[in-house]
Amino acid sequence: MNLILILGDQLSHNISSLDNIDVENDVILMCEVWDEATYVKHHKKKIAFIFSAMRHFAKELEEKGYSVHYTQLDDPDNAGSFLGEVKRAIKTHKPSNIIVTEPSEYRVLDDMRQWEDDLGITTEIRPDQRFLATHQDFTEWAKDRKQLRMEYFYREMRKKYKILVDEDGKPEGGEWNYDSENRKPPKDGLDVPNTYTAQTDDITDEVIKLVAEKFPDHFGDLHPFYFAVTRDQALYALNKFIDERLKNFGDYQDAMVQGEPWMYHSHISFYINIGLLTPLECCERAEAAYADGTAPLNAVEGFIRQILGWREYVRGIYWLKMPEYENLNHLGADRALPHFFWDANTKMNCMRQCITETKENAYAHHIQRLMILGNFALIAGLNPDEVNEWYMIVYADAYQWVELPNVTGMILFADGGLLASKPYAASGSYINKMSDYCKNCSYAVTKKNGKDACPFNYLYWDFMQRNQDKLEGNPRLGFSYNTLSKMSNEKIKAIKDDSQRFFKEISDGS
Ligand SMILES: Cc1cc2nc3c(=O)[nH]c(=O)nc-3n(C[C@H](O)[C@H](O)[C@H](O)COP(=O)(O)OP(=O)(O)OC[C@H]3O[C@@H](n4cnc5c(N)ncnc54)[C@H](O)[C@@H]3O)c2cc1C
Ligand code: SF4
Repeated sequence: MNLILILGDQLSHNISSLDNIDVENDVILMCEVWDEATYVKHHKKKIAFIFSAMRHFAKELEEKGYSVHYTQLDDPDNAGSFLGEVKRAIKTHKPSNIIVTEPSEYRVLDDMRQWEDDLGITTEIRPDQRFLATHQDFTEWAKDRKQLRMEYFYREMRKKYKILVDEDGKPEGGEWNYDSENRKPPKDGLDVPNTYTAQTDDITDEVIKLVAEKFPDHFGDLHPFYFAVTRDQALYALNKFIDERLKNFGDYQDAMVQGEPWMYHSHISFYINIGLLTPLECCERAEAAYADGTAPLNAVEGFIRQILGWREYVRGIYWLKMPEYENLNHLGADRALPHFFWDANTKMNCMRQCITETKENAYAHHIQRLMILGNFALIAGLNPDEVNEWYMIVYADAYQWVELPNVTGMILFADGGLLASKPYAASGSYINKMSDYCKNCSYAVTKKNGKDACPFNYLYWDFMQRNQDKLEGNPRLGFSYNTLSKMSNEKIKAIKDDSQRFFKEISDGS
């Protein structure tokens, strides 16, 4: 018989490890293990979400007639690691093979590759077919290219999957990308529909109790808990997005509004990343909404680009560049993560809002992660290891394959421009244009220097100056370096002094 291991982010009924399962004899192993819940101190909601979804998935497998060996975290004999649990299951079931779908994280795969030697049993690691580009596809695409720009990869994916392309392979509407239409600032009185909120059931209630008991010192609020934990619920959440929010997704994709943590985004990354939804079905549903006239092209193309483009592309970069990618620090950033990233105790209203919402929801939408939190981490020169750890901890959709390229590549430019053609650095005026945060801030966004000036304003120029030797040659930063070259010595000194004062304040916690 085979022992089939299913990991917590592999909750898909069509997962490759279940192909050709022998229902009479094979045993499926699923385990909640301490090592995975604590290798970083994940947000409480994230742990509850994954454990509850695992328990529901195990129940569905049993209902299908499969034999499931499930270990709960509080099982007194729980060995605490995947390998330990596999060893225990081997003793009980005496399998001749272990079958598993390739884990999504390098660290786990690296470990698993030793299992055959450690256990003396054939361990078959099957490809994860839920992604739309295989490792080989991406490697082929990347081969011999000087620059690995997402846009060109995305066009190939559109053609390959025939999404929003006509019979001649030309893009729907004549353009591949409608991003320029997707930058509307928020207007007053936006009517943002409520996001999907699931009712908890007995399984989820039990898991919530367990998480409260075992992980009291982990970041984040456990209550209220409202994530979908089954495929049916996740499908409902997807449909709700397509029906209610997709039409505005494009226009307000980059907009931020105080008190509106969810905006017109889809809130499905949690579900796709653990396998409750497939990326292709999400794209196809959006495409169908365009075809039946319920959502405009800029919204549908923008949404599909995130999934068929960005999501597959960052995974491709991850597997192409690991394990070196984990240690990159092109700009030599070394400042410690300020304490306010944990308690939101800062006078910068934009940061306070995004961190508070992250703590409450284990979610922030893309532009908050990128242009508020990420922008700050970049221009303040925060250490990539600490920033990566924070992003891994705080978001319920965080797995290293997707988190690391977004942090190291997209926000910190720590890979020297492999992923992003220029650093996403911006001053307060960008934040003021795209949000209403500045209206309620103790700092003045229009002031460039002085104690009450918006810190993003002087930190932006301090960042440009600090990294001039590495960034000046970037053609996309020509305008900024030209402006910097015309600044007076007094102005540059004021920027330096303000930045030094600010750094001192954040390091001593004041
Ligand atoms: C610093 C930083 C860290 C991030 N960390 C994660 C992470 O740990 N896990 C994660 O899934 N996403 C991460 N993202 C990408 C993106 O912010 C989230 O996928 C998105 O906010 C999830 O919310 P949503 O489902 O409402 O997305 P929407 O805005 O509705 O987008 C639809 C889907 O597109 C995909 N997507 C969008 N942008 C990206 C991207 N840049 N990379 C990969 N997939 C993308 C997601 O699957 C998402 O569900 C990160 C982005 C940044 C800038
Ligand atoms: S003034 Fe500056 S710190 Fe305050 S909310 Fe605006 S951008 Fe953020």
